Amino acid sequence: MSRTVYVNGAYLAEEDATVSIFDRGFLMADGVYEVTSVLDGKLIDFDGHAVRLERSLNELDMASPMGKDELLTIHRELVRLNNIDEGMIYLQITRGAPGDRDFVFPDPETTKPTVVLFTQNKPGLADSPVAKKGIKVISIEDIRWGRRDIKTVQLLYPSMGKMMAKKAGADDAWMIENGFVTEGTSNNAYIVKDGAIITRGLSNDILHGITRAAVLRFADEAQYKVIERNFTLEEAQQADEAFITSASTFVMPVVEIDGHPVGTGTPGQVATRLRQVYLEECKKNAI
Ligand code: PMP
Repeated sequence: MSRTVYVNGAYLAEEDATVSIFDRGFLMADGVYEVTSVLDGKLIDFDGHAVRLERSLNELDMASPMGKDELLTIHRELVRLNNIDEGMIYLQITRGAPGDRDFVFPDPETTKPTVVLFTQNKPGLADSPVAKKGIKVISIEDIRWGRRDIKTVQLLYPSMGKMMAKKAGADDAWMIENGFVTEGTSNNAYIVKDGAIITRGLSNDILHGITRAAVLRFADEAQYKVIERNFTLEEAQQADEAFITSASTFVMPVVEIDGHPVGTGTPGQVATRLRQVYLEECKKNAI
């Protein structure tokens, strides 16, 4: 069945939804995005995603095309129209289609941003069988640009990273820069050693995950020790546990890194507990 999607103010059947070939998102990856998960038909951490969207737009000198309330209305309307119980809402805002190709930014007075939202239906997202098994990751060099804190649609290298993982029989890749793990191709990376949760601190080197913020808050409340610092691949392989977080995977145990089992090679206690707590708490606060 065809989805109903949102494009620049209109709710349309997906086959009728179009964007110009001059759109700067298409020509130059000049755009930002957000992914918000839906559980029980409600939005998880919507405020966090709205705040980060605003920041990404600001960092790229793009005006926000709409306020948070209107954004929330569109998200909810898409959930309703597409009857989503579990899944994701994808949002993308680009600098628009000036009608020709030019490196110089168009005048925002005459070129309005392109706003696109669509749903991805994922029944069973929360009760994922993958989370019970854990995932395998490989390591790859991090050759992305220096502003990974901005959530741009420039996703070619993360996409290549997933392909490298797939070819190696793994599920994802962790990226390494100057000997330290930055993050996963589409998630934040963590290890657990002697009961402490260790994850890289926030900077321009990684995306400031909305799930990361929530999970660290819940970890703190549950009296886990949280240490924000760089860690190496070797340290990760010797850790008791490893896991990732993102809006679509929540908390996902990592059981193997470059063919080396982490801990017992099965999902660890801390990751399993944090996944439970995250899902419970987020469902309570979903809107
Ligand atoms: N890092 C990267 C590179 C990502 O693409 C993502 C997910 N988009 C994350 C981290 C996790 O962010 P969030 O928890 O907000 O989904």
